[in-house]
Amino acid sequence: MSAIKLHHIVKHYDNRTILHGIDLDVNDGEFVALVGPSGCGKSTLLRTIAGLEPMSSGTITLGQRVLNDVAPKDRDMAMVFQNYALYPHMTVRDNLGFALKIKGVDKHARAERVAQIAATLGLAQELDRYPRQLSGGQRQRVAMGRAIVRQPAAFLFDEPLSNLDAKLRIQMRTEIKALHQKLRATTIYVTHDQVEAMTMADRIVVLRNGRIEQQGTPLQLYDRP
Ligand code: ADP
Ligand code: ADP
Repeated sequence: MSAIKLHHIVKHYDNRTILHGIDLDVNDGEFVALVGPSGCGKSTLLRTIAGLEPMSSGTITLGQRVLNDVAPKDRDMAMVFQNYALYPHMTVRDNLGFALKIKGVDKHARAERVAQIAATLGLAQELDRYPRQLSGGQRQRVAMGRAIVRQPAAFLFDEPLSNLDAKLRIQMRTEIKALHQKLRATTIYVTHDQVEAMTMADRIVVLRNGRIEQQGTPLQLYDRP
């Protein structure tokens, strides 16, 4: 079973071609890291999958569903950005619970779910604080919590750790990996950091100039004699 299927995704900006017909199947529960030099089209591809960028041609499916004409919020995918995109005027509790509130989940069920996710992410003590009162790592955890709370079919990460210092990056890498092992959600993770990709991904896809240059498990790609 293939959770996310990209069929010949082409993207033009003006008269430049940014994505030259990307074909990629991400299996159900698989963690794929999308790597490649700056400007190769990683972020554009991820945003296209999320529906945040129009594509010129191609087909995106999630399970059996074609997403081409589906609005971003109805795609059943959650995106996590490097700049967190938290609501500054809301507490951690309200940031985590917001998507559930919009969905009409009642207060009691919401509180329970938020408490559970906060515990998973080590945020139980921070529920009444505001984003500006948190460390970078805590903010990134809230951003992940906001994605998890929606129980999406897939997670899309766009360089989520690049604003963190080296020590925290290594810690969060381990945490995200552990979280994936627990949730087993289909994940596409964009990073320019090869070590990050190697330690986290089931499969690494290397993009260059808008084309898939190579792909394989971390061992296949980087463990050359
Ligand atoms: P990456 O994430 O791999 O660094 P991007 O997807 O951000 O690469 O960019 C791929 C290419 O598309 C780059 O050449 C970039 O300059 C170009 N690009 C990205 N966004 C736009 C835009 N809004 N308008 C024009 N060109 C863009
Ligand atoms: P979704 O619509 O994906 O369920 P939300 O309802 O939480 O997610 O957010 C709605 C939109 O508002 C998203 O595109 C999100 O990036 C954006 N957003 C998030 N935080 C802020 C903020 N502090 N200020 C303005 N917009 C925000």
